[in-house]
Amino acid sequence: MEQERPPRHIGGMAKLGDWITPHPQGIYVAPADVWIDPSVPSLRALVTHGHADHARGGHEAVWATPETLAIMEARYGPQAGHAVQYGEPRDMGGVEVEFVPAGHVLGSAQIVLRYRGETIVVSGDYKRRPDPTCARFVPVKCDVFVTEATFGLPVFRHPETHDEIDKLLAASRANPDRCVLVGAYALGKAQRVIRELRDMGHDDPIYIHGALQRLCDLYVELGVDLGELRPATGVAKAELQGRIVLCPPGALNDRWSRRLPDPITAMASGWMRVRQRARQRLVELPLILSDHADWDELTETLIEIAPKEVWVTHGREDALIHWCETRQIKARALALVGYEDEDD
Ligand SMILES: [Zn+2]
Ligand SMILES: [Zn+2]
Repeated sequence: MEQERPPRHIGGMAKLGDWITPHPQGIYVAPADVWIDPSVPSLRALVTHGHADHARGGHEAVWATPETLAIMEARYGPQAGHAVQYGEPRDMGGVEVEFVPAGHVLGSAQIVLRYRGETIVVSGDYKRRPDPTCARFVPVKCDVFVTEATFGLPVFRHPETHDEIDKLLAASRANPDRCVLVGAYALGKAQRVIRELRDMGHDDPIYIHGALQRLCDLYVELGVDLGELRPATGVAKAELQGRIVLCPPGALNDRWSRRLPDPITAMASGWMRVRQRARQRLVELPLILSDHADWDELTETLIEIAPKEVWVTHGREDALIHWCETRQIKARALALVGYEDEDD
């Protein structure tokens, strides 16, 4: 185990980034006395984004973007929150802390920490391709890049978003007497699918499962236009024929979906690249649509920001660490626990 506050080596060289300490339950920034995305209730927390594996309830004080705070309040009730806008650095115990867009979901941020002339960027979760529901990832040059690796294998290459949305629209048009039921995570993915459909000219009402209502409403409140949404529950089968219906992944095959008119089961997730996962969920129409960086995005980001060291928080880290080592970039796995897959 590493110590919480490593001793200063007077006259010697301190280790790069030794003022932040990875623990299984999160990253501790010692001089600022604050945790990043702690998985247990903490006195002081910086939160990268609203997914439940990063944003837990019960912190005594939270610093996050206004959107992330709003998401946390929708999920957990009132927060002792300090809203931090993108690009407005603040001082915390001598550490300059800045939130920069991560392109993952609405309000998602990388956390940039500057201290003793070193810059550390904690990416949280991120992606590089455009997403009409959130601000685009901003690359920041740094000494240490703390990255996720959810799709950290060369086999993971996400296809073009438009092609996947096209598939969805084509399936809907080809089956006017059925509905297409799309499983999508309640925060981020559902709103992105809806917004991408709108951008492709789909103006029909979209029907949503009750579990998606609150976060869809919140996105609209925060300025993301989702067009006409209607509740899918309590609607006559005939009304849903030829329509697109969204639900959380857990509702795809449950009793609720039996009330729909012969649904074509679809699922929007980066994991739909893996046929076995699609089969497990009985998905007829896999849509490979991810809110995480794929292999090319991960490696191209590292080339672009050129860090001296890469620390991998979670995911499939081996291949990415190997990739770094062959390029003389020091890399290590942090093996943080509890970060997984609300949000693929
Ligand atoms: Zn996430
Ligand atoms: Zn995550």
